[in-house]
Formats: sequence, structure tokens, C-alpha cells
Amino acid sequence: MDVYLSALGCRLNEAELEAWGRDFARGGHRVLDAPEQADVMVLNTCAVTAEASRKSRKLARRLHRQNPRAKLVLTGCFAALEPARAAELAGVDLVVSNADKDTLVARLCEDLDATAMPAQARDEQSLYRAARTRAFVKVQDGCRNRCTFCIVTVARGAERSVPIGNVVETVRDLVQRGHREVVLSGVHLGGYGGDIGANLRQLVEAVLLSTDVERLRLSSLEPWDLPEGFFALWQDRRLCPHLHLPLQSGSDRVLARMARRTSRASFRALVDAARAAIPDLCLTTDVIVGFPGESAADFDQTLELSRELDFAHVHIFPFSPREGTAAARMSGQVDSEEKRRRSRALHELAETMRRETLERYVGARRPVLWETVAEGSCVGLTDNYLKVLVEAPSNRDLINAISAPLLCSVQGDALLAQH
Ligand code: SF4
Repeated sequence: MDVYLSALGCRLNEAELEAWGRDFARGGHRVLDAPEQADVMVLNTCAVTAEASRKSRKLARRLHRQNPRAKLVLTGCFAALEPARAAELAGVDLVVSNADKDTLVARLCEDLDATAMPAQARDEQSLYRAARTRAFVKVQDGCRNRCTFCIVTVARGAERSVPIGNVVETVRDLVQRGHREVVLSGVHLGGYGGDIGANLRQLVEAVLLSTDVERLRLSSLEPWDLPEGFFALWQDRRLCPHLHLPLQSGSDRVLARMARRTSRASFRALVDAARAAIPDLCLTTDVIVGFPGESAADFDQTLELSRELDFAHVHIFPFSPREGTAAARMSGQVDSEEKRRRSRALHELAETMRRETLERYVGARRPVLWETVAEGSCVGLTDNYLKVLVEAPSNRDLINAISAPLLCSVQGDALLAQH
């Protein structure tokens, strides 16, 4: 059968999509780049905000309009939180819960009694797959924490980890398919293994030991539950010196209202330990501005701590109450104008820190994985997650190559380089 896969939202949704793509390909089915000719369309929805749920419904309707003949399958967090509403959407034939995602491909093949396609289908699959340079691998799902603003922990349920052996096998398969970088992803990645008597350090050690992956990256990591000796892993230079640690707020009072299992002091100590162990570490983060009850003084603490910790990039989220979370029912909701003011102030600081980080690398060389070509330039990411542009050479295809160009100057949010 011909399948079209689409996802909204987080890296984990993307990792799931890639895994389904591989599974369909292994079964001899074809994964298309567009929905019009598909027999089945799978949409991995998001519900992290009310807006994300609205976008999920809108995309489902659009897919049905683009191909009313195809079977439309909805899964993901919107479908998990509002299964009845998802099933009522025009054209939806099947709603698959987050808990059943790992068996989605088998179930669809069974439901549709789909038989394997001829051999050439597989060749097309490898072509399709090779388009991606970085591959996301889901190693964990669900979360034991109860941050008061978070609906993901509700939508994705209890923690469950993929056994280390399965992850190693998947990474080996991806390396064989030509992927130069693998990103390990989860909802609460730091909690990996808690349900199977393992931990994240053991997983990373096994992947580094048992595969030839050239670059291994970790996706977002909550700043707690990290195993003993975790930062020693970075002695292996294949582990990318980049950590995404969501701070969310720099005020202990607000962190407590968010039920975050961290504080200013413990977050700072974690960053200090990481910086001491990992040369050229780049730190990125998430911050919510305007959380209920956040005073101007609380926000000033967020600015001050962010400045001190020197983030290379800050994802800024103006608080939006998410129905079904404790924070949505909290008193002290901050007015929109004030939220906008705080977002602007943090944006300005984030841009300054970004520029300072990039300027620190002018004149240096760093390994860059080239991923795309845009407006005559190749675009890639350094091992420590800095964006780099280089004039696309006429004599060779840089895509999916790793090289160490000279980083010459800063342009916007990127470094201009030359070989
Ligand atoms: S740790 Fe992350 S996924 Fe879990 S509840 Fe908190 S914000 Fe949500």
C-alpha cells in the first residue's frame, strides 16, 4: 500500500513518524512525500497547547480534502486527549491511542490486509530515507512528573522505555542507511530505563560502544533524574556537546508553582557540572513567561539567571492556559500585554546571548553536518548545535557530509563559513 505520514509538534512525534516509515518500508510498502495518491494517511497530532490541537484538527480536515479516497488515521496527543472529537472529524477512519502507537503499522497492515509491494518499492524507500541526515530515535515515552502546565504527561501516560538492545539495533540500521547523526528522543529522557532496571547513562554507553554512529545527540532533558557519572559520557567525542535543559523559570517561587523538580541553585549546579565536564558545551533551553502568579520581580530573576547561564538559544513560550492542567485553574493569570512585554525583553536577551555565542567561534573550525541547500548556501549544524552557512560548492554535493570549515563571521542567527 502507499502511505503518507505527517506529524505536528515535538521531536518525539517526528521520531515516531520515522520509525513507522522504516517499518512500512521494511514491509515493502511505499511511503509517499505527498498525500494525494496515498491509500492510507497517518497524522501524528499534538495537543501541547489549545492552538496545537486546533492546528491538528485543521490539518486532518485538509488531508481529507486532499485525498477523500484514502483511509485517514489519527494518533498522537490530540487524539489521545479527545478521542471522540478526533473520530468525529470528517474522513477519520481510525483513532489510535498513544499507548498503541508502537503497533500502529502492524495494525494498519492487518486492517487493510495489505500485501507486500514488489522489490522496487524497497529501492524507493531507501531513496526516501536517505533524504534525512539526522535521524530521531524514540527511546522512551510517558512521564512520571506532574508539572502543572503540562498536558503531555496526561496525554502520553506512564513511562515506558525501549530496551537497550532494540535501540542499539535501530541505531546500527540507521548508520547502515547512511545517517551520520542520531538523536535519542523521549518525553522524559532523563527517566529512561526506570521501568526496565536501566538508565540513560547505560543506554548511551551501549550505543557508543556497539555502533559506529558518527554523531550521537540527546534531545530535551529535564534538569533532574540524571544518573551518576552522566557527564563522563562526553569523553567520547561522538556525543554532541549540546544540552537542551528546560529552565522554564528563574524564580524558585514560580518553579514551585509549576511543580518543577528543580530550583535556581540545583539548575545552576547542574549547568556548572556539565560545563566542567564537556568542552565547548552549548546550552539551550525553554522558558515560559507570564506563568500564573509570576510577578515582575520573578521575571527579573528569570532574566538574571538566563544571563548568568549564558544560553545559546532560548525557546520562549508565553503562558497559555491548557484545559486539563492545574495551571489553567490557577489564580494570578498575567495579562496579555504584560506577557508580550516580558517575551520581548527575554527575546532581546536571547538574541544578545546567541550573538555572543556565535562570535566566540569566529576564526575557529568545528565539525558541521550539512543538511540542506537554501538560496545557494549549504546549511548545517555544528556538533554543538550552531547553525552554519557555506556557499554551495558547484563541484560536490555536501549534503549529508561532515566537514570542518573555517567559521568566518556572524550573519543573523548563523555563522558564515568557508572551506
Ligand atoms: S517533566 Fe516534562 S513531560 Fe513531564 S510533566 Fe514535566 S514538562 Fe511535562
